[in-house]
Amino acid sequence: MRSAPTILHLDMDAFYASVEQASKPSLRGKAVIVGGLGPRGVVATASYEARVHGVHSAMPMSQARRLAPNAAYLVPRFTLYRSISDQVMALLRALSPLVEPLSLDEAFVDLEAGGTAWDERSARLVGAKLRADIRAVTGLTGSVGLAASKMLAKIASEQAKPDGLIVIEPGTERAMLEPMPVRTLPGVGPATGDHLRRAGIHTVGEIAEAGEDELVRLLGKAHGHALYAMALARDDRPVVAERETKSVSVEDTYDVDIHDRVRVGLEVQRLADRCVRRLRGAGLSGRTIVLKVRRYDFSTLTRSETLRGPTDDPAVVREAAARLLDSVDTTGGVRLLGVGVSGLADYTQEDLFAQAAGGAGEEAAEAEESEPAPEPRPEVPVERRWSAGHDVRHTEYGHGWVQGSGLGRVTVRFETPGSPPGRVKTFRVDDPALEAADPLPLVEAPPDLPEPMRPPEEPPPRPLEG
Ligand SMILES: [Mg+2]
Repeated sequence: MRSAPTILHLDMDAFYASVEQASKPSLRGKAVIVGGLGPRGVVATASYEARVHGVHSAMPMSQARRLAPNAAYLVPRFTLYRSISDQVMALLRALSPLVEPLSLDEAFVDLEAGGTAWDERSARLVGAKLRADIRAVTGLTGSVGLAASKMLAKIASEQAKPDGLIVIEPGTERAMLEPMPVRTLPGVGPATGDHLRRAGIHTVGEIAEAGEDELVRLLGKAHGHALYAMALARDDRPVVAERETKSVSVEDTYDVDIHDRVRVGLEVQRLADRCVRRLRGAGLSGRTIVLKVRRYDFSTLTRSETLRGPTDDPAVVREAAARLLDSVDTTGGVRLLGVGVSGLADYTQEDLFAQAAGGAGEEAAEAEESEPAPEPRPEVPVERRWSAGHDVRHTEYGHGWVQGSGLGRVTVRFETPGSPPGRVKTFRVDDPALEAADPLPLVEAPPDLPEPMRPPEEPPPRPLEG
């Protein structure tokens, strides 16, 4: 592990909800809940004002409505979130060529590799400037954690929330981790957490006390070793800009989008098993578990988790895939799921890909993942749908957003990111003066983005263990 806190983790604060509050002045300071509004929808993001009522991500929407009946309930606008994410990621890439995004609003940055920070003081300055730049460019806040490892940087940003910056000074890690619940550690989801609790292990300190052998006995080799090392604050995982490209993976496209979260979970387990059968069939094991999810709107997310050692254990792959799924918003439905394992042994890879090329089909091993062009969506027939939170334009009143609709009526609030809170008007759903509109930028004229840093000619040295 390095000796200076030069790994940065950025996490935007209540991202989807904050974007909605920034674009809708009347919702600032109010409880806002973004997610699937159908009968089986779940919360994607709740604003901090809504969290006060106990609402949190992944909660069934029906429960959120009971807890916060007066909150604004909005349908996600992923295209807008993605465009803001692009702005944020561009700021990160100006700091280092080694940027590892984890989702639309979260990423690791290796500041040392970018030459932008080398000690605590320089790291803190970079973190503070980044937060100011994000605010200037997007109008939103993000929290920053700085530490000597990925695990600790992520824990730090979580503690810094909302709108803060925390540096974990090298040397203080173990004392800080000891009293924390086991769920603080990466890779400890609900299942592993329960497993540990039944063994009387509640805190990170108790993992360290239990010892490595006991952890391996409880959780299996790969996971046990990994968790024990994390509990001792030993984490030398590098920030990786490019995913390892070779993998064994399987995926399924569904004729009808899957909405049921339980069914999505079962499909992921089934794909994990199939992936392991392929892996074993080829005599391989791998270190990185990859989950791919294409959502109803064709946005495609890839999440991955790197274990400390390679595995071909179906239980380990299943559990990793389930953990990765925990962090994916499937509100609105899923049209494709995939599970892959990468970080394979080199010497057999060629054979595997030759074999895959011969016997293609749905279980194709893939060298590289790219997002396909969106397929045309089926036309919405006759009746127009007005989704809560989406933008509209009225020939007379201008730009606004749908506050709600039903019984042949649609209620629109006329306001823009730069305007004061606006007035509400109600129209017939088929009013010809009303049409769907594109979102407006949150910041009128954002300052010029800095140039991204060029990747180094040679790969940077990997941090040393110790
Ligand atoms: Mg976030």
